[in-house]
Amino acid sequence: MLTSLAEAAPRERPAYRSFRVQVARVERLSPHFTSITFTGDELGEFGTAGLDQRVKVVLPLPEIGFAAFPEGEDWYPAWRELPGELRNPFRTYTVRAVRPDVREVDVVFVGHGDGGPASAWAAQASPGDELVLIGPDELSPGRTSGIDWRPGDVETFVIAGDETAAPAIASIVGALPADANGIALIEVPANEDRLEMQAPPGVEVRWLPRNEGGTHGDRLVPAVRDWVVRHLAARGLAAASDEERAQRALAAAEHDDEPDGPLWDVPEGHSLDGACYAWLAGEATAITTLRRFLVREAGLDRRQVAFMGYWRLGRAELD
Ligand SMILES: Cc1cc2nc3c(=O)[nH]c(=O)nc-3n(C[C@H](O)[C@H](O)[C@H](O)COP(=O)(O)OP(=O)(O)OC[C@H]3O[C@@H](n4cnc5c(N)ncnc54)[C@H](O)[C@@H]3O)c2cc1C
Repeated sequence: MLTSLAEAAPRERPAYRSFRVQVARVERLSPHFTSITFTGDELGEFGTAGLDQRVKVVLPLPEIGFAAFPEGEDWYPAWRELPGELRNPFRTYTVRAVRPDVREVDVVFVGHGDGGPASAWAAQASPGDELVLIGPDELSPGRTSGIDWRPGDVETFVIAGDETAAPAIASIVGALPADANGIALIEVPANEDRLEMQAPPGVEVRWLPRNEGGTHGDRLVPAVRDWVVRHLAARGLAAASDEERAQRALAAAEHDDEPDGPLWDVPEGHSLDGACYAWLAGEATAITTLRRFLVREAGLDRRQVAFMGYWRLGRAELD
């Protein structure tokens, strides 16, 4: 006989949990992209929702590896309780591909040579290396959480990002319907970093190599501006009235003018039906500039713009 409510209603399976994995293969895709295929007994249950779904990559500590890492669904509070020297560092990445039938997951790492533990680990990775992924659980009712691509029913997509967003953009563009319309603009370090990408015929994929010159956003920001001005404004898609534009500019200014401004703003739900949906991800300053342009000058509603600072120049991701 049941004696308590807890017994009557078992806890829901959490959206994310830890998966012990080993490196199966390492493929250097280009000078700055490395695809790492992970394998592990439990990957048959790894979430397959795709798009820009994120994972945490937990890195080994010197000498002890993962001996102190508290696995399972409640890993995070337990990890926080650990003394600093026993806390494995972790960073955020995107699931590029999942093959549950052969228990494999691919993640594409950007090599940036700025001393970050994740980039450094990927540069040295070889088959057999161990890692922990905190990833979506296919059997959980929350299996689609961690996805920020929520466009609703729109006429045109503007997808823009730097190299860290390229894996997410590849998955998103590959999943667009055959009649989708719009552009994906991807700034990468070098010419050779243009990756294979499957896109529907109405979606242009444009690579913007910095070729070792300039900083993040130098190529991306003007390219997005140009495209928006030519295509959206010309078709009247982004045209808001002057009054609407002024109100949106004010709301945006209140929202993001603090010196350290928000790095993330993703419209909630699927209520965005309308002319255009913009998805922006990458270095925070460049992405903030783009969001301001789209909302204040081009007249898009903030709720049409998903904006994600994936990283910030000069700052390590906080664990
Ligand atoms: C939702 C989400 C998904 C992401 N998906 C991916 C992905 O699929 N692939 C991927 O490579 N990255 C991805 N990123 C970005 C990644 O988390 C950051 O680049 C992260 O900082 C890398 O960790 P690190 O240990 O190498 O460097 P950190 O220790 O975090 O940073 C060390 C230094 O390197 C700088 N830095 C960090 N990244 C870069 C870069 N790309 N270029 C130049 N300098 C940099 C920092 O500003 C800092 O000064 C994603 C981020 C988010 C939030």
